[in-house]
Amino acid sequence: MRHPIQDYLRSLHDSLRDSNEGELAQYIPTLATADPDRLGIALATVTGHLYSAGDDETEFTIQSVSKPFGYAAALMDRGRAEVDARVALNPSGEAFNELSLEAESHRPDNAMINAGAIAVHQLLVGPDARPQERIDRLVSLLSALAGRPLRVDQESYEAELATADRNLSLGHMMRSHGIIQDRAEDVVAGYIAQCSVLVTARDLALMGACLAAGGLHPLTGERVIAARVARQVLSVMSSSGMYDDAGQWLVDVGIPAKSGVAGGVLGALPGQVGIGVFSPRLDAHGSSLRGVRVCRRMSEDLNLHIMEAD
Ligand code: GLN
Repeated sequence: MRHPIQDYLRSLHDSLRDSNEGELAQYIPTLATADPDRLGIALATVTGHLYSAGDDETEFTIQSVSKPFGYAAALMDRGRAEVDARVALNPSGEAFNELSLEAESHRPDNAMINAGAIAVHQLLVGPDARPQERIDRLVSLLSALAGRPLRVDQESYEAELATADRNLSLGHMMRSHGIIQDRAEDVVAGYIAQCSVLVTARDLALMGACLAAGGLHPLTGERVIAARVARQVLSVMSSSGMYDDAGQWLVDVGIPAKSGVAGGVLGALPGQVGIGVFSPRLDAHGSSLRGVRVCRRMSEDLNLHIMEAD
C-alpha cells in the first residue's frame, strides 16, 4: 500500500517541478554548470521511516549544510567552553560570506556563516590534528548520519579551492586575531573539502532526523551526536541557519534549518522529522528557492511550525 506521506511528497514535487525562478551559484565553477531543474524531496521521521520523491538519489555537494555537523563534531571533540571561546552564538544578520567578526572578541558571530565554520573546522579532533584527520573526522560523522559511506568530490574541491579568495581572507583575518592557529590555507582547504562531500536529499533528511532525535540515529538507534550538542546545534540553526533570512524563516516556516549553495536544504524539527530538499536555483540569500518553498508548504500542510501549540 502507498503511504499518504509518500503521495503528499509526490504531489508537492509535481506542483513545484516546473518553477524555474532563481539563479545557480556562479562563484564556484562546478555549481554554475549544475542541472538547474533537479528537484528532490525527502522526509525522515525520528522513528526511522523515510519517504522521498523526485530526484531524491541525485548527488550534490553538501556545502554549508555541513556546518551544523562540523559544529556538532567540534563540540563533541573539544567541549563547549573551547568552542564558545572561538565562535559566538548570535545571528549575524549578514550574508554567509561577509568579512566581519564580533567587535571586541574578534570571534565569528556564529557557526553557520563561513567565518564560523572555518574557525570550527580548525577545532576538529584536537589541537595537534593533521589537516587530513580533520577532514576524515567530518566525512566519517556525515557517513554515520547518512548510513552509507560518503566521499569528497575532488572536482568540486579543486574548483572551489582555486577561487577561494574570500574564504582565505576570512582565514587570514581570524589567524591575525588568534581565532585560528594553523596556516589559513590549510584550514580553508579543509573547510572546502568538508563542503565538497557528496550527498542526496535522502541523506539530508536522515541527518536532520538524527538532530531532531536528540542525536540518536533514526534507523539504528545508535547515539551519533551527544544530546546537549544536538540541542546547541539546533538552537544555532534556528537563529542563524538561514543567514540574513533567518528571522523571516522562523516566522514563516518555523523549522530549524540549514541551506547550502549547491541547492541543499536540511530541516530538523525536534522530536519529529528531518527534511532534505535539493534544487539548485538560489534566492537572494543564497538558499535554494524551491527548497525554501517546499519547506514552507510542508510546514503549513503538515503542521510543522515549532511555535505551534498543537
Ligand atoms: N563552500 C561554500 C563557501 O564557502 C559554502 C557556502 C554556502 O553553502 N552557503 O562559500
